[in-house]
Amino acid sequence: MSKGAIKRSLYRAGEYAFHHNRLMRRLIILGRNKRSHRFPPVVIVEETNRCNLRCQMCPRPSMNRAVGDMDFGLFQRIADECTHNKVEVLALHLFGEPLLHPKLPEMVRYAKAVGVGNVHLSTNATELKGKLAEELLDSELDSMIISFDGASPQTYSKLRRGANFEEVKGNIINFIERKKERRKVLPRITLQSICMEETEAELEEYCRFWSGKADEVYIAPFDTFAGMVHNPTSHPTFFRRYPCPLLWRNLVVYWTGEVTICCRDLDGKGVVGDLRRQGLSDIWHGEGMASIRNLHKERIWGELCRPCREWSWYIF
Ligand code: SF4
Repeated sequence: MSKGAIKRSLYRAGEYAFHHNRLMRRLIILGRNKRSHRFPPVVIVEETNRCNLRCQMCPRPSMNRAVGDMDFGLFQRIADECTHNKVEVLALHLFGEPLLHPKLPEMVRYAKAVGVGNVHLSTNATELKGKLAEELLDSELDSMIISFDGASPQTYSKLRRGANFEEVKGNIINFIERKKERRKVLPRITLQSICMEETEAELEEYCRFWSGKADEVYIAPFDTFAGMVHNPTSHPTFFRRYPCPLLWRNLVVYWTGEVTICCRDLDGKGVVGDLRRQGLSDIWHGEGMASIRNLHKERIWGELCRPCREWSWYIF
């Protein structure tokens, strides 16, 4: 990677760091289009909220929701509705490590078999090995973000509590090699490190090591998860606040089937429906969503959105 490319990559780690990959570029293009979508372009599914790590920058350790795995039948209904409505992206991660769901490869295969265009997930790669790794390579998964922060065992183990730097790095390298050996184009692999006080000094080395191995290297800005976690690098936003574009773009499904407005909603403050009684489309056009959108238009942000800084990452 050239010096210029590394500088550009690091620059992106600022407030404007959302132009990071095709998925996000597509989200921005969708966000610029102010017309209401008939169906959410992006559906995020928490197939599990179990996790095997306690990462320093993640709000999950303070989660109060019950912990569990999504029922496969419920997932099938979601995937069916998504494909019927030509969803742009079906993302399979939220407040848990997706590779812990025992049926994850089956879920990806099902979503692709019924015709979902872009199936995506984000993983900490601790379980990206052996049979599961091979099954994921076979599953037709479109893209994955591998969250691997920093370039040294010291930084990594401080941030990703419970994971071993060398082991996970080995998993990632093996997965990339297996993908090459099997001549697979997909999944497209993005290696991601968060830009934060602890990682800043290692980011150039990080970019140098992973570029050429992964399809893409991305330095992500620090996400406060709507004000729940902080780091000196999480600067305030300077824009005049506008209604959050995500309300016109995303729906988020918890493993239970409850549906919330945002991927930063740890404990269900923004729940607007339940797939055990409704469809995604009903919820998208329902009173709950309409009411929150109207409140945002009136500059009334509510308990979940008031402390949020990340709204400014998305542009109308
Ligand atoms: S304002 Fe923040 S918490 Fe609210 S929907 Fe937007 S990104 Fe989510």
